[in-house]
Amino acid sequence: MHRVYNFAAGPATMPLPVLEKAASEFMSYGSTGMSVMEMSHRSKMYLEIYQQTECLVRKVMDIPDDYSVLFLPGGATMQFAAIPMNLLSEDQCADYIDSGNFAHNALEEAKKYGRVQVIASSRDDQYTYIPEVKPSMIDPDASYVHITTNNTIFGTRFTELPDTGSVPLVADASSNILSEPYDIRKFGVVYAGAQKNIGPAGMAIVIVRKDLLGRAQPCTPKILNWAKQTDADSMVNTPPTYTIYLAGLCMQWLLDQGGIEAIEKVNIEKANMLYDVIDNSKLYHGTAQREYRSRMNVTFVTSDPEMDAVFVKEAASNGLVNLKGHRLVGGIRASIYNAMPVDGVKKLVDFMKEFEAKHV
Ligand SMILES: *Cc1c(COP(=O)(O)O)cnc(C)c1O
Repeated sequence: MHRVYNFAAGPATMPLPVLEKAASEFMSYGSTGMSVMEMSHRSKMYLEIYQQTECLVRKVMDIPDDYSVLFLPGGATMQFAAIPMNLLSEDQCADYIDSGNFAHNALEEAKKYGRVQVIASSRDDQYTYIPEVKPSMIDPDASYVHITTNNTIFGTRFTELPDTGSVPLVADASSNILSEPYDIRKFGVVYAGAQKNIGPAGMAIVIVRKDLLGRAQPCTPKILNWAKQTDADSMVNTPPTYTIYLAGLCMQWLLDQGGIEAIEKVNIEKANMLYDVIDNSKLYHGTAQREYRSRMNVTFVTSDPEMDAVFVKEAASNGLVNLKGHRLVGGIRASIYNAMPVDGVKKLVDFMKEFEAKHV
């Protein structure tokens, strides 16, 4: 079987053992005689899969019992609306940090449901860094503070979490969840679209501290209401059953790798391999400021957009695909989530060196 190294930002490469396991059970799961996707979401056999996935998510991320773990349709973008609907009260505001395109989309969406303040932004500098957030910048009466822990498009990451005092911290961790340890207790809400480090697209995992449930605005659709979803075990409607099953397989795979702390070491190694080439090159230039560089999305350019295009094309013919930068920034982006093997990054490093030797 032919498989390429897929550096796509999302949907992204999946762990091969997960695909193999899913393939082996595709037509009949265990002794059930049916595919997981054919099971009733209310059936005993499916509920076992659901509970297993939730259990594994809790175990991998060490999520305490006073947090609810939800598997919701609609990806992270749906949560951009759900967050203010569930948390933002009429007489309060929400503080947002505008550190990237998704952060910006999140705050623009929130404005439809209440008062939003942008307390720090790197938008005017093309999001090349994470703006500083001092405790004094946070409105102590805000309903919550929203950050995006890793900026998928611009290739930056929060190296430390802002101190928000008693104001709940809400984090979009779509592109770096499960890649480095986070103490969930520091957050009111952590949410992530599934298609980068969790499983297939179309779903978000939402982790909510239970004392924040029950504050939803009256207009909140039932399907977006975290309290109702918690009571219903994410089954206010038919949940993305097959995606939840695959997420469970990915969690098991991650545990087999030694869990988050072990994979973080590999992730640092992979990112350093690429940044080393960039920093020692005359051809490549990193686009993110050094101290904020992402470990998941490595963004760089040559000084010539045509050369960038040649790079992407030649890489693809060498089995290294989807290296084109996001349309907003151009250039080259290598997304190296948990499931990207070290070997794939080694191949990319070799290719980058050969390409430079040929063109400089
Ligand atoms: C990919 C991504 C999203 C969007 O996820 P969808 O599932 O497409 O809604 C939001 N935020 C961040 C940080 C992302 O990387």
